[in-house]
Amino acid sequence: MKRAPLLILLLMLIHQAILAADASRSDTLDIRKTIINFEITDFSTKVIYAKASLLVKAKQNNISWMNFDLEGLITDSVQLNGNNLTFTHNSPDLKVNLPAAINTNDSVWIDIYYHGIPIADATWGGFTFSGLYGFQMGVGFNAQPHSFGRTWHPCFDNFVERCPYEFFVTTTGDKMAVCNGLLIDSTLLGNGNKIWHWKLDENIPSYLSSVAVCDYTLVKKILSGMNGNTDAYIACRPVDTNKVNGSFAHLQESFSMLEESFGPYLWSRVGYSLVPFNAGAMEHATNIHIGTPFIDGTLNYETLIAHELAHHWWGDLVTCSTAGDMWLNEGFASYCEMLHEEYTYGQAAYIKSVKDNHFRVLSTAHINDDGYKAISPMDSLHTYGTTVYLKGADMIHSMRSYLGDSLFFKGLSDFLDQYKWTAISSQQLRDFLSNAGGSNMQAFFSNWVFEPGFTHFSIDSNQSVFNGNSYDVSVFFRQRKHRSMNYYTKVPIEIGFYDAQMNLHIYRAEMNGQCLEFRVQLPFEPTLIVIDLNLKSAMLLPRKIK
Ligand SMILES: [Zn+2]
Repeated sequence: MKRAPLLILLLMLIHQAILAADASRSDTLDIRKTIINFEITDFSTKVIYAKASLLVKAKQNNISWMNFDLEGLITDSVQLNGNNLTFTHNSPDLKVNLPAAINTNDSVWIDIYYHGIPIADATWGGFTFSGLYGFQMGVGFNAQPHSFGRTWHPCFDNFVERCPYEFFVTTTGDKMAVCNGLLIDSTLLGNGNKIWHWKLDENIPSYLSSVAVCDYTLVKKILSGMNGNTDAYIACRPVDTNKVNGSFAHLQESFSMLEESFGPYLWSRVGYSLVPFNAGAMEHATNIHIGTPFIDGTLNYETLIAHELAHHWWGDLVTCSTAGDMWLNEGFASYCEMLHEEYTYGQAAYIKSVKDNHFRVLSTAHINDDGYKAISPMDSLHTYGTTVYLKGADMIHSMRSYLGDSLFFKGLSDFLDQYKWTAISSQQLRDFLSNAGGSNMQAFFSNWVFEPGFTHFSIDSNQSVFNGNSYDVSVFFRQRKHRSMNYYTKVPIEIGFYDAQMNLHIYRAEMNGQCLEFRVQLPFEPTLIVIDLNLKSAMLLPRKIK
């Protein structure tokens, strides 16, 4: 997801308990499918009536009860094969007792009937009614854990548990419900209400499940890609269709960039639903919820549109196992904003976005996030902070320099292919890239990901000696730390030598530790020596000129 900049200050004020996303249940039980019947017809009382059916499979023996998460809503009954089960619901903890213990590989359908007014998060996310709209934002910045599917259906609300979904949402006849996946059909009832049937065959965590209700119309676009065409549906009010066409003018570019960078799009459709939310967007799989202020008919927010689509590789296809590794979702999606600039507007636009982002990181991340932080593991208070989003993107830009373009994009694409539909960790990415040929990735992750602070390289001095045919040139580099614990090692750096005609000659070296003497024989006496002219590493300062 992405939040509007105004919320950065608010984030500093949030005080949260230690995150305890309970992924341990997923070692015991596996939710194989979730079917949600959801009646959302009364926008005055905002009371919903719902039934969720969950197919649960045991992964251990002798299981006589199970816990689900359901927050802010009231459980009316729980059934197994039409028979009532006993339960206790101390929100969000819904404990259901089974009539008899089940064993490994046994499966049961649990039907949970519930109602109430779905809750919003105190800061960002949750379920919101606003005017004609009712919609769910999946994540709660103030909630513990941050995953917030439990505001509209019972689930294991962690980043690890995944299942396919099916939705039957009842609205009044003048409205439409949009959920994840494909619209199977809609049924007109005798009382004038409609049931909207959506189905998502792909596995997603609970926080990526979605519903948005309004008097929507669907704007269809066809995206061409690696596996043929993919339909894109953008749900908006009829009055907003022109704005949609303007703001989504570069959706094809984002789609192509992401496929060419990280492999084919593996979801059934691309989707966005416009919602009255002025604090950003949420990457619900195939049904991104994006705030109406950002779809204004211009391309001003095209990188936000690209960011959310990028989550369909980084965040939705693979998901960080823990909130402490949120940079794997948000750092990569933020970096894809820069890739969108590069793909759509060229190299100079990419470098400008890298520089702008780097400046923001250096000048604001330690202020917004209460100190110099490593991007992983990040504390719960700053899961959605500047360090995770922007320094994460800054580090990924440097990762590209370490690996080189071909290994960077191929290595990441292969990683996504290997781990698709699962939860991942920084250590898994480090080890995968190392095994894929990134010989210096252990050092990269130690320095740039797991430690706070920054590094800085500069040219201390140089010497050129004429030897009869050419010049023996020595350049002395120094590394300086800024709030980092150790000197960085195995850092690839580019050194540029200008001749008298200002032609540039580039050589490569590897920085290890505090000092480096680089020697080279040149057919000219250099008039100017530069380091990292092409801004390939996110150093404290990009270069120093002789
Ligand atoms: Zn995001």
